[in-house]
Amino acid sequence: MKAAAFAQDKGCDFVVMLGGGSVMDAGKAVAAMATNEGDLWDYVNGGTGKGKPLAKAPLPTVAVTTTAGTGSEVDAWGVVSNPETNEKIGFGGDDRLFPTLSIVDPELMLTVPPAYTAYQGFDAFFHSTEVYIGNFSNEFSDMVAEKAIESVAKYLPVAVKDGKNLEARSKVALGNTLSGYAMVYGCTTSEHSIEHAMSAYHHNLPHGAGLIMISLAFYEHFIKKGACPERFVKMAKLMGKEDAEKAEDFLKALKKLQYDCGVADLKMSDYGIKKEELEKIAVNARETMGGLFASDPLPLTDADVVEILKNSYK
Ligand SMILES: [Zn+2]
Repeated sequence: MKAAAFAQDKGCDFVVMLGGGSVMDAGKAVAAMATNEGDLWDYVNGGTGKGKPLAKAPLPTVAVTTTAGTGSEVDAWGVVSNPETNEKIGFGGDDRLFPTLSIVDPELMLTVPPAYTAYQGFDAFFHSTEVYIGNFSNEFSDMVAEKAIESVAKYLPVAVKDGKNLEARSKVALGNTLSGYAMVYGCTTSEHSIEHAMSAYHHNLPHGAGLIMISLAFYEHFIKKGACPERFVKMAKLMGKEDAEKAEDFLKALKKLQYDCGVADLKMSDYGIKKEELEKIAVNARETMGGLFASDPLPLTDADVVEILKNSYK
């Protein structure tokens, strides 16, 4: 709100967003609030947000992404946290919030530290895996998600081990941007709702790290219930497990990818999450980001969410 007031005051014509997902998302909020009345929270869809449509066109934006994780450079959304209400919700969805110009230059990503390279890369990866198994998948989202899954799975371990490897950075950046398109044409699942609730209460938890922590239990839940087995097999194959024939092979490939990227041992307890909070997190996930549950390949109850969190808890 301060930056939007500044932009208004100085008569800025456009907003340049140079940074990672948080910076680009904040930039979209600035662009919207520089031209619209009231408070940003009036325009947030979900939770205690008022869900008002933007009356006026936001300022145009230029996105220069320095990370490969969120796909925010090609979508019309931003994630915003309200520390007073412990809500972390997507804001936007208005076509006028798509960046006017996006620059994806892997040379700007060469100095991202290994752990953050992994967290961000897995965020990009899950955007595509979620869209791919989601109820809103379609031919276009399948096309970009498949390429993204293949590209990130092959090159993320290389980029984590050797951050200066420009080929690996380029391929992960490509996967990230394609995952951004996948989200625009399809929709992520409640894996994202659950993680947002975790990091809404624990701001020190990086989004990608939270997703990694719950991912195996999340996908296992749907695999056990028999949801879209052929899609899990296809994803396992795209991840290099060419002999995949069962949905469970996806879990094996995911475990290996986590291990190869050095993130197989992430613990919720290291970020201050307590076992007693898991019910509260499940309720927050539905209250703030309930819309994404519609994308789940099978309906997920609050009890299912608690079970996934319990199975993920370390
Ligand atoms: Zn994400």
